[in-house]
Amino acid sequence: MKLNTKIKSIDLISSKDKIHFDSEGKFPINYGNNFIDENELINFHSEIELFDGRLSFSIYVNFKYQRNCGRCLTISNNDDESSSFITLNLNEENDYDINYDDEYYDLEPFISEIIIEKMEINYVCEKKCKGLCSFCGINLNKLSCSHKEKNLKESPFSSLSQLDL
Ligand SMILES: [Zn+2]
Ligand SMILES: [Zn+2]
Repeated sequence: MKLNTKIKSIDLISSKDKIHFDSEGKFPINYGNNFIDENELINFHSEIELFDGRLSFSIYVNFKYQRNCGRCLTISNNDDESSSFITLNLNEENDYDINYDDEYYDLEPFISEIIIEKMEINYVCEKKCKGLCSFCGINLNKLSCSHKEKNLKESPFSSLSQLDL
């Protein structure tokens, strides 16, 4: 099931205390070479209150994601967690288009931000990663191949190197 990120505003308006909100569900993301699989479950916990037109909430997110090294394409799995505390004045315009009279307050954009902040858009497994051989596709961190010399001879420009210019 898709992650439920919508809080009924009536629950907040009628409550004197903070509301605790927990949810687990699917929340697929693609960001650079990072992704959360469409079948992966993430979960979050939020404590949220509406007071004097101000919506204040904490969000604590737990998530697993995969990332591909931008050079050697090796996939690694990560477990991560992160949190954020946000206050919005609902009587003023805000970047999230959340208004006092909305039927629901949707935490989805905040959860996306929290997760994406943890991801490296151009992730590389290590600085020294040698990547893949552009001829045979072998992972040069693990194996080596002799395509460099071979392909120099086969390339259409190789005859030039044999000319005495
Ligand atoms: Zn790599
Ligand atoms: Zn090769």
